[in-house]
Amino acid sequence: MSSTATINASGKAVSQFDTTFYFIAQAAQIVPVCRVLPVNAADVATILNIVRETGATFAVKSGGHNSYASGTNAENGITIDLSRLKDITISDDRKSVTVGAGCRFGEIYDKLEAHGLGCVGGRISSVGVSGLIMGGGISFFSSERGLACDNVISYELVLANGQILNVSEKSHPDLFWGMRGAGITFGIVTRMELRTFNFERIWGGASVFAHENKAAVFNAFNKFVHDGSDPSTEAFMLATDAAKDGNSVYAVITSHSNPQSDTAAFDDIKSLTPLASTTQIRSLKNLCDEMDSQNEPGFRFRTSSLSVKFHLSTLEQIDAIHTDSVALLMDCDGFVPSILYQPLLGSMLPRDEIGNALGIKPEDTPLIIIAILWRWTDVQHDKMIFDVADQFVNKVEKAARAQGTFHRYQYLNYAARPQDVYRSYGEENRKRLLEIKVKYDPEDLMSTLRPGIIQLSGSPKA
Ligand SMILES: Cc1cc2nc3c(=O)[nH]c(=O)nc-3n(C[C@H](O)[C@H](O)[C@H](O)COP(=O)(O)OP(=O)(O)OC[C@H]3O[C@@H](n4cnc5c(N)ncnc54)[C@H](O)[C@@H]3O)c2cc1C
Repeated sequence: MSSTATINASGKAVSQFDTTFYFIAQAAQIVPVCRVLPVNAADVATILNIVRETGATFAVKSGGHNSYASGTNAENGITIDLSRLKDITISDDRKSVTVGAGCRFGEIYDKLEAHGLGCVGGRISSVGVSGLIMGGGISFFSSERGLACDNVISYELVLANGQILNVSEKSHPDLFWGMRGAGITFGIVTRMELRTFNFERIWGGASVFAHENKAAVFNAFNKFVHDGSDPSTEAFMLATDAAKDGNSVYAVITSHSNPQSDTAAFDDIKSLTPLASTTQIRSLKNLCDEMDSQNEPGFRFRTSSLSVKFHLSTLEQIDAIHTDSVALLMDCDGFVPSILYQPLLGSMLPRDEIGNALGIKPEDTPLIIIAILWRWTDVQHDKMIFDVADQFVNKVEKAARAQGTFHRYQYLNYAARPQDVYRSYGEENRKRLLEIKVKYDPEDLMSTLRPGIIQLSGSPKA
């Protein structure tokens, strides 16, 4: 995915990431009855009033990276496209930045970096601020500062009844807690105030290792995660079989947010010889642009998310299950399978009294979020790929349960629509979320009129 601009019919330069951009082809192909582009919260309230009165169904789109089609584009309904909500305002005391819900992280980082500031946000420039933050948000700063959802100071939220709330810890403590992990289900967020910090440059990039180095790479990754002594460092791993020969290459994405200081955290990873590496000191925006260029949009995609307690033998087993699963699909047109191994460390959990809705306890960590990211080109292969993906998830769950390493948590931002994500937050948290929902959306309009998203009450098997 390159971030170059194209020229529209009136000769104006437009970014390929504007308005109708969708990362997955299945979402881009949906043609809504109409697309509305509000410019402020009052517009969103008016739209919701019309929707309520007419009983029209709708979907909400921010950055358009959602992992399943119906989340952001409304078949037979109204797509509420937030891409005109673009304000970015740094507070006078430089401790926060208020961003419109249609901003992409690259735009925010550009502005913040010019002021020597950073915020906890996405790792690719084009990803939308709203979807990423409200599902959790794993950042290059999460070991040091937590998830993106735990770094929001307040939200401007339009409820289903058209009321505009300013939700903060003080004003609506119950809702504020629920927004941390289930924010998309309570209404439409139009603005967020994010915590900022002083920040200059980051060291980071991707190191790609050949299949023959697999055991050594897994070992080094395992050591990095279990050491966890330097919270200014992050690493995640992606295995991809682009050659379709059963021999994935392993990309380890490492970063160090305090590159002026030495760190021993990557000694094991650095001792291996990569096929290629892009690690260097640079601006955050530059690193996130590079990550964008590695993630090409426009393909059919299937993701699924699950978690296990980080144990080397479980990871190796998952890798083997993945290799066997995707071997069944290699004849599908344009098929390229990747699997993401994303650590979720104790240091990423909220440190304040509020907590969040995700239901992860310190004793559960280190967890590893497993997400498949399979792409292909031909619609006729959808069913087969979806079936194998579901079987993969079942096999991994079974293997992890047998090893005593299974964890219920599913990361909303990489989940498939049939996944019952909010149940994976634990029964107690789900019950609390449902109570909050009843208080702020008593007629449950956000579910009935917005059927495309993963629901608090569970999703249809679609
Ligand atoms: C290439 C790529 C890289 C990624 N990298 C990361 C990463 O580094 N870290 C990470 O944690 N995740 C990452 N993700 C996952 C990402 O967090 C999710 O895809 C997220 O949903 C994207 O947000 P968005 O605003 O772009 O998506 P959208 O598709 O616009 O929205 C996602 C969901 O949120 C809802 N929504 C959006 N805005 C609002 C709003 N204002 N009010 C109410 N509901 C709303 C939508 O209806 C939809 O259901 C990545 C995904 C991709 C495809």
